[in-house]
Amino acid sequence: MKSTSRIFWLALLLVMLAAPLVLGTFTVSLLNEIGIGALVALGLVLLTGVGGATSFGQAAFVGIAAYASAWLTTSQGMSPWLGLPFALVLTGVSAWVIGVLTLRLGGHFLALSTIAWGLSISMLFGTMESLGRHTGLSGIPPVAVGGWSLLEPQAMYYLIWSVVLLACLFSRNLLDSRPGRAIRGLRGGSVLLASVGADAYHLRMSLFVTAALLAGLAGWLYAHMSRYVSPSPFNVHASIEYLLMAVAGGVGSLAGALVGSALVLALKNALQDWLPLITHGLGQMDAVVFAALFIALLHFARGGVMSFVRRGLRRWRPAVAARPRLTAPAHPLPRRTLPAKGTPVLSVQQAVRRFGGLVAVNQVSFDVGAGEILGLIGPNGAGKSTMFNLLTGTIPMSAGHVRFLGRDITGLPQREVARLGLARTFQHVKLRPRMTLLDNVALGAHARTRPSMLRAGLRLDREEEHRILYEAQCQLDRIGLGDSAHELAGNLPLGTQRVLEIARALAADPVLLVLDEPAAGLRRNEKIVLGELLRKLRDEGLTILIVEHDMEFVMKLVDRLVVMNFGSKLTEGLPADVRRDERVQAAYLGGTA
Ligand code: ADP
Ligand code: MG
Repeated sequence: MKSTSRIFWLALLLVMLAAPLVLGTFTVSLLNEIGIGALVALGLVLLTGVGGATSFGQAAFVGIAAYASAWLTTSQGMSPWLGLPFALVLTGVSAWVIGVLTLRLGGHFLALSTIAWGLSISMLFGTMESLGRHTGLSGIPPVAVGGWSLLEPQAMYYLIWSVVLLACLFSRNLLDSRPGRAIRGLRGGSVLLASVGADAYHLRMSLFVTAALLAGLAGWLYAHMSRYVSPSPFNVHASIEYLLMAVAGGVGSLAGALVGSALVLALKNALQDWLPLITHGLGQMDAVVFAALFIALLHFARGGVMSFVRRGLRRWRPAVAARPRLTAPAHPLPRRTLPAKGTPVLSVQQAVRRFGGLVAVNQVSFDVGAGEILGLIGPNGAGKSTMFNLLTGTIPMSAGHVRFLGRDITGLPQREVARLGLARTFQHVKLRPRMTLLDNVALGAHARTRPSMLRAGLRLDREEEHRILYEAQCQLDRIGLGDSAHELAGNLPLGTQRVLEIARALAADPVLLVLDEPAAGLRRNEKIVLGELLRKLRDEGLTILIVEHDMEFVMKLVDRLVVMNFGSKLTEGLPADVRRDERVQAAYLGGTA
């Protein structure tokens, strides 16, 4: 199978190399436009399809780059090769400024804000004297390579498609890396990312700037291809067309950008030729046809053309051969030294959390010592999950303090707390169902290495990546899922998903492991295996704090118990003593557990 796919790519490359030699000038020009559109759509696939943030303003970035290079090469007489860095820096900085202003807006508000700046930037081009107002700038010089001026579309073709190819490779490398995993994890909320020490805002910003830079590359190519710029190709209408390309091709796949751009531009061309014959010059009818097609697409093929292609390929291709197991890297990820048994790890002092009038946690204090398993129990609604959210920094405390490893972590964001060595699982499982088990667990090791997006895109991160994946594989082996490493997490039954969350937490090499109802939904023998795993982890020196409803499970497992009821601490002590406590019995008879 490997060799057939290699032959396919080689053949495609040859066809692409030969295309301008055999095709007419009109078709080559269309291919050039498709390449430029694909660059912008590629950014949108990354930003929208992978990262989950929709942009209706991408054409503005194309415009900023196009105008920047146009201005520098016409009024300043500089070379287009100087125009390129100038255009990219200006686009990148603009994206960063817009990002600072808008990326903290959630959901629909972010998308709405992109319309606002998309509109205003393209209007700005039409008002600036130095940019030629509505007439634009003309006489832009073509790009020259050596002494060869890329004036003809055939010549420009090679430049454009080389850039497209490199951008595709960069994006593919990026997604298949440590920052790429975190980017793929952006969809579905930032709490999970923060719990593994990743900064969702920073990731979203990097992704936004990357998408803008891809649009910037497109803008630079556009300016020196058409050698004339005016405001209209950079307005919101154009932005929507780019978005349409990404959606039509398939916003979930990089190839979708190429397919979508080809589809939209070829269709647009065909409509311009044929529509006037049908509508007898009614004008602007192509917009109506596009709108109808867009709606049909959303109804019948949300995954775009690539989803059909992929489904077809799966039918023709033999099942994916088992991948070889990862070998141990020369230098595995370093481990933390765990504190000596009995030294205080976590200390909660007078913690209070109010939700409006409700006091969910009321003046609760307790300590956890190194190498013990402490159980936190109490009836439903007692405030246990809230307590977990307070001590992991997921939500801020109304009053009180938390110390972790001798350090006051009160008010520290969850991301920082996680980096200090506090890993957690969630009562409502937070996994990324479309990612493999291996990737989900590797996400846990996020904070243990630091390859940047640039290093990842250039494939300079392979050693660190190997170390992360090996660590993830070891943790999967530990929970007995090593053989399913390449399956999708979403296909697992709920009980197994819970155990997978534990593996992810372990991949962070924590000092303290905080588990919220890990045995819920597990079968009896799965619970036994889980209990054995947790005891083994404790014997290895890990400290564990666990909320659990299954009394039999808890009593056999933990060293000590803290009991909560109505937000307050009822008592604490050895399991046998707690079991005999009348107040505890009363609380449980009154509660639902
Ligand atoms: P437990 O995990 O012990 O079952 P929780 O900590 O989930 O209890 O909830 C404790 C109380 O706090 C409950 O009454 C719950 O309704 C309330 N609560 C929890 N989270 C929130 C929130 N985000 N907003 C308002 N009330 C909340
Ligand atoms: Mg709970």
